[in-house]
Amino acid sequence: MKRQVDSLWLPYAQMKTVAPPYRVVRAEGVKLYLDDGTVVIDGISSWWCVIHGYNHPVLNNAVHEQLTKFAHVMLGGLVNDPAINLAETLVRITPKGLNHVFFGDSGSVGVEIALKMAIQFWRNQGIYQKSRFVSLRLGYHGDTTGAMSVSDDDEGMHRLFKGTILPQYFVDAPGGNNIDSEECQVSLCQLEELLKSNNTEIAAVILEPVFQGAGGFRFYPPEYLFHVRRLCDEYGVLLIFDEVATGFGRTGALFAADLANVTPDIMVLSKALTGGYFGLSATIATSRVYESFLGDDPELAFMHGPTFMGNAVACAVALASINLIETENYLSKIKIIEQILKQEIQGLEGASLCDARVLGAIGVLEFESPSNLVGFREFALSRGVWLRPYSKWLYTMPPYVISEEDLRRVTGVMKEWVLHQGHK
Ligand SMILES: *Cc1c(COP(=O)(O)O)cnc(C)c1O
Repeated sequence: MKRQVDSLWLPYAQMKTVAPPYRVVRAEGVKLYLDDGTVVIDGISSWWCVIHGYNHPVLNNAVHEQLTKFAHVMLGGLVNDPAINLAETLVRITPKGLNHVFFGDSGSVGVEIALKMAIQFWRNQGIYQKSRFVSLRLGYHGDTTGAMSVSDDDEGMHRLFKGTILPQYFVDAPGGNNIDSEECQVSLCQLEELLKSNNTEIAAVILEPVFQGAGGFRFYPPEYLFHVRRLCDEYGVLLIFDEVATGFGRTGALFAADLANVTPDIMVLSKALTGGYFGLSATIATSRVYESFLGDDPELAFMHGPTFMGNAVACAVALASINLIETENYLSKIKIIEQILKQEIQGLEGASLCDARVLGAIGVLEFESPSNLVGFREFALSRGVWLRPYSKWLYTMPPYVISEEDLRRVTGVMKEWVLHQGHK
């Protein structure tokens, strides 16, 4: 049964006209059970985080086990084993050189921590002008003010706030099939020009490696990252990878950075970190960044500490999630998902469809305009599939445990919609 509950203010929604949300009463594997008896396959992993599906026995068990001890202790002056073990595990699995983990509670907060860390890295060396950032057009880094400032301010969902948040620098987004593409070359030229003229005031470049999520659902060649790394080193600017969406296998490698063999100075992880169980982020720094905060002067310390950082239950479930990824060979599951997505939707053509692209466990249909997706939600629901198109993009980012049959049901609905558009 649909319900309108306006005491509950919904995200990204005009509450006056928003379609009533559906009520989930149970979730299991890749399926959501609604209160009217409808069962749907979740094709977007609850905003890309529920990578092992819902109600997973191993993850449930990790939560229960930690709860028999305690749920949470502050990280100020106290530590807990799950937080220590998770930090060590993240250092082990992330690109070589990232050695120090600072926990936060969401992707946006993880990005704020990275930005603040980058500015203080320079201040701790007596360099006060380096406090601005460069990011990519069509990027998205979160909804808090610092994260908004580095998200695309013209195209993105935060354009309303232009003028009220810190102005940053942007370069055109890279794209195309290889580094010689015009989009990559233009983007790198702009970046070099910008760094050449303004490096004295730029603290870092921040970008989503290889896959730009909510700002454009687009891919670009991994080699681009290698050149950005080179330019950052040449002009003395830090490099931050926001792997909140790409981390933990989404692009086909465990981290998108692995596709290019590039180590950023700071990496941010969140969404899939706990397998979708709890909000948790990890901002991970190289020793060079970390060491700039060491010294006898207390002012050099990083003055940051979210109340719930290092929450023991969240860290315990994150450890169990990473263990599943490693022991159950998730990268091969993701390969199979990629093959099926390629077979089913890559290169698809149809009325109003501009592009159909696939990378890892991400499949995107880009339409001419958001109006091409009006009515899609009910169309998909009645066919047993939950997808939530955003703007002009209809995409799937399924849980990695999805069966081939269920995945083909998801892509089937996407393809049927393309045909349906043709018949209008
Ligand atoms: C979702 C997302 C964020 C923000 O994460 P929240 O947990 O929603 O605050 C930041 N960066 C990227 C790339 C994201 O996809």
